[in-house]
Amino acid sequence: MAFVFGSSFVGRRDVRVQTRTSSRRRVGVASVEAKISVAVVGGGPAGSCAAEALAKGGIETYIIERKMDNAKPCGGAIPLCMVEEFDLPPEIIDRRVRKMKMISPSNRTADIGRTLKPDEYIGMTRREVLDGFLRDRAIELGAKPINGLVSEVQVPEGGEGKYKIIYSDYGNKKAGKGTSSEIEVDMVIGADGANSRVAKAIDAGEYAYAIAFQERIKLPEDKMEYYEELAEMYVGDDISPDFYGWVFPKYDHVGVGTGTVINKNAIKQYQTAIRERAADRLEGGKLIKVEAHPIPEHPRPRRVQGRVALVGDAAGYVTKCSGEGIYFAAKSGRMAAEAIVKLSKNGEVLPTEDQIKNTYIRDWDNKYWATYKVLDILQAVFYRNNGAREAFVELCEDEYVQKVTFDSYLYKTVTRGSPVDDIKLLFKTVGSIIRGNQIAKPDAPIAVIDTKKL
Ligand SMILES: Cc1cc2nc3c(=O)[nH]c(=O)nc-3n(C[C@H](O)[C@H](O)[C@H](O)COP(=O)(O)OP(=O)(O)OC[C@H]3O[C@@H](n4cnc5c(N)ncnc54)[C@H](O)[C@@H]3O)c2cc1C
Repeated sequence: MAFVFGSSFVGRRDVRVQTRTSSRRRVGVASVEAKISVAVVGGGPAGSCAAEALAKGGIETYIIERKMDNAKPCGGAIPLCMVEEFDLPPEIIDRRVRKMKMISPSNRTADIGRTLKPDEYIGMTRREVLDGFLRDRAIELGAKPINGLVSEVQVPEGGEGKYKIIYSDYGNKKAGKGTSSEIEVDMVIGADGANSRVAKAIDAGEYAYAIAFQERIKLPEDKMEYYEELAEMYVGDDISPDFYGWVFPKYDHVGVGTGTVINKNAIKQYQTAIRERAADRLEGGKLIKVEAHPIPEHPRPRRVQGRVALVGDAAGYVTKCSGEGIYFAAKSGRMAAEAIVKLSKNGEVLPTEDQIKNTYIRDWDNKYWATYKVLDILQAVFYRNNGAREAFVELCEDEYVQKVTFDSYLYKTVTRGSPVDDIKLLFKTVGSIIRGNQIAKPDAPIAVIDTKKL
C-alpha cells in the first residue's frame, strides 16, 4: 500500500511550540503579524479533513490524535460520492457492494441493487486504513501532528486570548504513559468523536445516543464468497427495537452488529439475535474482534462557541435510520475549516463566533437539514414495530423506492421523485403497513428502558 499509517507523527520536542502571541492581531481586524493557529482535536475523518483544508489554506494547524493507528468501531460503509469528492485512491475501498439484502422480522428478504449502474457501489472500508490515509494526507500538506490524548481545553476568560490545550504527549510511542504538555492556539476544532472533551469544555450540551455493538468475524473462504459484493441488513425487535442489524463485508472478514437507543442494557441480547439470524452464513467463522461505541442521534444544542467549532460525531452529525456518519464527518470538517480559512483571509484575521455561525453552521443546516429530517421520519415510521418493519422490507422491493434511496445515499441529495410515483408509493406504503401488521408477530415488551441516558 502506498501510504503508511501515522508514519509522519513527530515527537514531543518537535511540537511543543508555544504559538506566537500576536499583540497586534484583533478579532475581525487584519494584521501583518503572525498567522492564526488552529488545533484540531481528533484525527478521524472529521479532524483529518478539517486539518487538510486548514493546512491547504496556509493556516498553522495542529492535529492531535490519541491513537494514530486507531481502528474506530464502525461498519466502514461510505457513499460513492465520497470517493470522488475526497479523492480517495481505489485501494482505500476493500469491497464494492452492489447488492443489499433487507431481511424482515419473519425472514422475508428484499434484494436491493437492481437499479444501480455498473459503476455504482457502496464502498466498504477499514477505518484504520481510511483514517490513516486522510490523516497522513493532512500531515503531508503541512498540519503538525501531535500524538497525544487531550485531557482539557481551557477557554480564555471573557472570550479574549488563546485557548490552552492540555494533553498527554505520547511522543513516538503508540500510547501508554505520556508526558504532560500544553499548547496555546487561537481557535479549536473539536473532532474528537461522540465522547468529545472539546464539546464539554465549551458546554455544548448533550445529545441522545445509540450504543452500537459489532463483532468482526473471519469466515472460511467459501462463506466469504457469499459476501463478495453483498451486505445484509436485518430488522426485527429481536435485533433492535429502534435500529437495524448488519452484516457488512470487510477486507477479509465481516462486521456483524446492531445498535439501540431505547434499550441499551439489552445490546448483547440483540447481538446474539443477529448472530442467530445469520447463523447459516456465518458458520465456521472465527471471532477476531468485539467492539462497541456510542452513535449520536442528533446535533448538539451548541456547535460553535467563541472560536471553537464542533464537527463530525462531536457535533452530532449521524443520520438516523441508517446510522451513517463517516461522510458527514469528513464533509463537516472540511466545511468548518474552509469557512475559517475564508473568514480569516488565510490566517490573517481572527473570525468571530457570529461569523462562524453565519457560514459553517448556516451552510451545513441549509445543505443537510432535509436529509436528516427525512431519515428521522423514516426511522420513526418504519422501525416502530414488527408490522412496520415487514412493510419496510416489502417496500424495498419496489424499483422506485430503490432508485430514490440509492440516489439519496450514494450522492447525498434528497432526490425529488416523480409526483405520480410518489402518490403510488403513498398508497403502496399504506397497503404494506396493513399487510405487515397482519403477518408480523407483536414486539416483545422492553423490560428495561434506560431513560436516564435518552
Ligand atoms: C458500530 C458502529 C458502526 C458504524 N457504521 C458506520 C458505517 O458503516 N458507515 C458510516 O458512515 N458510519 C458508521 N458509523 C458512524 C461513524 O463511525 C462515525 O459517524 C464517524 O466515525 C465519525 O467520525 P469523526 O471523525 O467525527 O469521529 P471518530 O471517527 O470517532 O474520530 C474521533 C477521533 O478522535 C480521537 N480522539 C477522541 N478523543 C480524543 C482526545 N481526548 N484526544 C485526542 N484524540 C481523541 C479518536 O481516537 C478518534 O480517532 C458507525 C458507528 C459505530 C459505532
